[in-house]
Parts: sequence; C-alpha cells; structure tokens
Amino acid sequence: MQSFDQLHRYLFQGANVRGEMVRLQESYQAILDSYPYPQAIQKVLGELMAVTSLLTATLKFEGDISVQLQSEGVLKYAVVNGNNQQQLRGVARWDESVETLPEHFSELFEKGYMVITLSPKDGERFQGVVALDKPTLAECIEGYFARSEQLPTRVFLYAKQDAPAMAGGFLLQILPGSAETTDPEELESFEHLAQLTETMTQDELFALPAEDVLYRLYHQEDVELFEPQSVVFKCTCSRERSAGALVGIDKEELMQMIAEEGAVKMNCQFCHTEYSFDAIDVESIHAGTFGSSSAAQ
Ligand SMILES: [Zn+2]
Repeated sequence: MQSFDQLHRYLFQGANVRGEMVRLQESYQAILDSYPYPQAIQKVLGELMAVTSLLTATLKFEGDISVQLQSEGVLKYAVVNGNNQQQLRGVARWDESVETLPEHFSELFEKGYMVITLSPKDGERFQGVVALDKPTLAECIEGYFARSEQLPTRVFLYAKQDAPAMAGGFLLQILPGSAETTDPEELESFEHLAQLTETMTQDELFALPAEDVLYRLYHQEDVELFEPQSVVFKCTCSRERSAGALVGIDKEELMQMIAEEGAVKMNCQFCHTEYSFDAIDVESIHAGTFGSSSAAQ
C-alpha cells in the first residue's frame, strides 16, 4: 500500500531550507467525483489541492488558507480551501458552452488573478493578490512568495487524470533567518536543492513509496524528516453555518420563497449537501434562537 494522501515535511540541516512533499489520491478523487469536471479543469483542481496542502503546512497558526483563481476566460473560478488539520475542499466553475478546453494552464485564463487568503481562527485575515501571468500555477505561486514574503520559494506541482487520478507536489523555501535571504552561499545551496527536486518525474512521484521518493532525491543531503500528516477531503459546511447566511436576508423574502417552493434550500458549493429550512426555522433564525432548541433536521 502506497502512502498517499499524506503530507511530508522535512528540514535540510545546515542549509536553512524547509521542504514539503504531498501526494493525493482519495482526497483528489473525492473532488473529481463531486462534479463532472472536464480534464483541463480536473488538472487545475489537482494542482490547486496540492499547493493548498503545501501552503497550509507552512501556517504557524490554527486556521485556514484558500487559494482562489479567477478570470474572464474559459475558467471563471476555481478555489481550494485547506485548514491546519489538512482538510481540503474545492470547487471550480467554467464556461460550459466551450466544447474543447485548452490544455495549457495559461490559456484557461483571461485577465486572470489569484487570491490567497489566510484566515487565522483568532486574528486578522490576510489577503494577497497576484496576476496569473505565468505559464504554470507553480510559477504563479512562486511569484506570490517573491512579492509577499520575499522568501525564495520553489514549487513543483503534478496531477494526472487517468485512473487512478493523483495529484502532488513539492515546496522548498529558505527559512526566514538572521542571515536573511541574500546570503549567496545560502542561495546557492537552495538552488542546488531545487535542482535536485526538479529531477523528480511525475511517473516516479506517483509510483514509488514516499520514502523512496525522498531517498532518491535527497540521499546525499542531511535531512531531518518529520512525521507525515494525513490529508483528507472534508467539507466544513453545516446546517448552522447555512442558517447563518440567511440572517442577512429579509424575512419576508424568505417566507415568500417558502410559500412558493415549500422551503428555503441552500446547496453547499463544495460538497453539494442540501440544507432545507421551513417557516419555523426562518422564524428562529431571525429571532436568533436557531440551533439552540431544534436538533432535528
Ligand atoms: Zn459542504
């Protein structure tokens, strides 16, 4: 059994560089099963999942990260959310009138940009925006780091759609430190590690056990490997959260909807769970007592 759906973190002793590797199978398949996405969109979602997992592992707080791509091109919108427990969920929207989607990442976007949102459980949200002006998602992410954190970062992403579908990636980053990131020796060893990582092929990454991948890449380096963390597809939606979204909507409007359709129905865009609310629910939502008495669906 291969160790998929796991995130591996490691540290290069003496090089002041951290590394991460992630490989996804079941969690990736769960997103692919949620909607009939064309292959080009599946690939973007796989890379987005991998990179969100890698970014989430760099969080120093409890909370979540969302990586969102937006454009006026064929791909309208794609987003993956991840939290510090490595629970991922995602969704994409595209122009479904287009029969044959372009294969290359950059051709899917027009006036595309990426929004990375860090939301700590306690504290201020942080949002960074960069243009999707590079040929690959990995390079766009590197551009984001160069601009926002000024930490030399390399990202490698992979996704294959033929069964079994798999996604994965690596992240290498110079640790923020006293010598700062302009030390030529430090940059040189970082470049060396990046070149090693770049030799990994998609076939090898998806075929070898995790230990073999890391050994094959870094056996001449002094690496400290941490316990891997499981990655799962899990939606964080709930009936209570959906009810919360109804607070801001006029009660009369909701009652009108119930009169016409029997209920107010809300669908989670990520997992497609339907939450249904009747007149009594709407009364208690607007009275602020929803969820305190009725546990029943
Ligand atoms: Zn959901």
